[in-house]
Amino acid sequence: MEIFPYKPRKNQIALMQTIKNCLESKRDIVFESGTGSGKTISTLASTLEFALKNNKKIIYTTRTNAQQRQVILELRAIRNKTRDKREKIFGVGIQGRANMCLLARNDPELSRGTSDELSRFCSNEKKKTKSEDKDNGCIYFKNSIDKNKTENLIEWVKNKLPTAEEFIEVCEKKQVCPYEINRQLIHKSIIVVCPYIYVFDIMIRNILFDSLSVPENDMILIVDEAHNLPNFIRDLYSSQLSMFILNNCIFEAEKYGNPSMLNGRLNVSDFCKLLNETVRDLRDTYVYGILEGGIRQEPLRKEDAFIPSHEFETEILSRLKVTSKTLHDIISDLIAFGEKIQEYRQKEGKLPRSYLHKLGLFLDVWINLQTDQHAKLIVDASGGNNPRIEAFCLDPSVGTDILRDFHSSIHMSGTLEPLEEYRDSLGLIGDCELVSYPSPFPKENRKVLYVNDVTTKYSEIIKDENILNKMKESVTNICNNFPKNTMIFFPSFNIMSLFKNNKTFNKINRCVFIEEQQMSQSALMELVSDFKDYGNQNGEGAALFSVIGGRISEGMDFPAKQLEIAVIVGIPYPKPTARQRGLQRYYDLKFRKGWEYTVEAPTARKLLQSIGRLIRDEKDRGIAVILDRRATRFKRYINDLQESKNLIEDIRSFIDN
Ligand code: SF4
Repeated sequence: MEIFPYKPRKNQIALMQTIKNCLESKRDIVFESGTGSGKTISTLASTLEFALKNNKKIIYTTRTNAQQRQVILELRAIRNKTRDKREKIFGVGIQGRANMCLLARNDPELSRGTSDELSRFCSNEKKKTKSEDKDNGCIYFKNSIDKNKTENLIEWVKNKLPTAEEFIEVCEKKQVCPYEINRQLIHKSIIVVCPYIYVFDIMIRNILFDSLSVPENDMILIVDEAHNLPNFIRDLYSSQLSMFILNNCIFEAEKYGNPSMLNGRLNVSDFCKLLNETVRDLRDTYVYGILEGGIRQEPLRKEDAFIPSHEFETEILSRLKVTSKTLHDIISDLIAFGEKIQEYRQKEGKLPRSYLHKLGLFLDVWINLQTDQHAKLIVDASGGNNPRIEAFCLDPSVGTDILRDFHSSIHMSGTLEPLEEYRDSLGLIGDCELVSYPSPFPKENRKVLYVNDVTTKYSEIIKDENILNKMKESVTNICNNFPKNTMIFFPSFNIMSLFKNNKTFNKINRCVFIEEQQMSQSALMELVSDFKDYGNQNGEGAALFSVIGGRISEGMDFPAKQLEIAVIVGIPYPKPTARQRGLQRYYDLKFRKGWEYTVEAPTARKLLQSIGRLIRDEKDRGIAVILDRRATRFKRYINDLQESKNLIEDIRSFIDN
């Protein structure tokens, strides 16, 4: 490998060879390789070498901006190694429009715009700049098309290979639009690093691919942290209508003239009020189990429930006493009225947002939905304040047809097993290579223990309060016996609150940090940074209480002394909601693997992600403890799992060694 910038390890050589083989035979590859094993640089170098030789372009997709930054830094390292190919090794990082539009960055209302709204807003600003109204158009765009203002900048980008943040900062100083400059640079790039949405949202993809100006079969797709992709696509292809949106529709209708419908029998806001009542009634019937006459049928608190496929529209038809044809006319009227509101707002220089337009589009999708790939739900997640109906996408393969068009696609993650599940979920057909690479780090540096006498299984903890007490005692003893940075992961904020309410934290003789559910990103970063500092100071450790599957366990690094002990309180099985049951049933029907693909595999990934915080390089050492006897069900995924009869002694023995 000519362009690999470091001394490659054995596992990296094997990985690069496999990627090379797959690219040469135009095959897709799905692989798992532990965090810290160097998969980003290995994948980047081998794909880049192939792309340079075969005139291909690379789209490297990431979930977070931090991952994107890492890719650009590695690209710089490659370029520094290969001076003769310097010119050709050029790439750009793209972030979402809300980050790249300087008008949106400095305007709280615009910054909340969707990419579609911002795209329309931007087109209008650009139109103004080119017309007689040019003094009112976007100044950043005006500067971006002035060659004198951009020439040096483009040269600087080519030389420096800035990260997206660095690039936006310089553009802001020069008062030019980063989004527009990026468009000028994309077709010169061999690699574009961008969020998933740039490939999996059809509209956004079309704009990106136009700028790349090569056909799809000359592109190679890389999906980083791929275990996130199926849920990302499910979210993208799901749609919902909440009472919050309907209230905004009522407000908007009344503000903009509230036109009448059905020959004057009803106006737009009345129609929205009727939908509001219908959503509330569906919630009362299916989630609260209230029968006619106000009798409550089911005492159980539920978060969501299935609604029969056509129930919502049937209710609307019967309450309005109209036919389906009339309902379709109403939907068309809502869309047309919404478009007028969008245009009006646009003329006023505002975000072209219309809730009525969203409502019309939602109803159109809802009525025409292919229900076997979507579940229709009524959801009541925020304590009765904002019930919603939701068309939940069960099958991420509805959004992955594009994968067949690429030369190859490469999907990688530190926790992707079982790989067949990922392949099947995304509908990767044909001869797709599936590989799991063992951790390159010394096995003796990690220990994973579980205890057999406790569990967070709901039916058991409500019967025997001793179970929770034992768990609290274990957490307190671990924290008080070892002056090491320790993270305690809970399956949910609810379970964490059981510990909080009983003042467990007061018995811990160490500095305790607690992640709160609604914490802002900056507050969370500050909390984590203070916790890490304790680990880096000699002799004193701290305890951080967090949840599994959250921002800490899935995306943050804690090298060396920043984290030495991880305690996992219970098994993070998905909640038994209607949404989860729908998924399980769908995967049972499609693959006969409902439990394995929708319960076991996601739970194992969450456990492994949490344990994975401990070891980031060959010198790291760490011990994980799972406080739940059901841990044995995951031995297939955690092969070094051992039972502990005496936790404190076993942890001490590991640390002393
Ligand atoms: S040209 Fe750039 S700064 Fe101006 S509106 Fe469009 S994206 Fe925003």
